[in-house]
Amino acid sequence: MRPAAVPPFRTLDPALAAAERLLATGLSTVVYALPDELLAAARLNTVLAGTSPRLTLTRQGWQVIHVAAGGRADELAVAAGGLATLVAVAGWSRLKRCETCAEPFLDRTNGRTRRWCTRHRPNHRPPA
Ligand SMILES: [Zn+2]
Repeated sequence: MRPAAVPPFRTLDPALAAAERLLATGLSTVVYALPDELLAAARLNTVLAGTSPRLTLTRQGWQVIHVAAGGRADELAVAAGGLATLVAVAGWSRLKRCETCAEPFLDRTNGRTRRWCTRHRPNHRPPA
């Protein structure tokens, strides 16, 4: 089995960071649709329908950032664009729900091993 490619998280920020902030609120219905990927895509497309792509110079270089009507850098528009790019690059498997509270989160670990939201993530201590 080929190891899964690690998506270029850093190159997707700041839009991906915005998506992470909104997974539990403005974009939660997208994650709640999973594992139905077509329904999740339809919900994400509904959000994207009110946005327009803009080529924007960011700290990571030139990126396509989605803006709301009128060119506003609305966080939901930016987040939806970042999430769409992530899914196009890496699929839906990094969008998860916490095993404790079911809150949506983005798994950025290399092995896609994360199971809990930030609040319920166990502390990893180095061996004594
Ligand atoms: Zn949780």
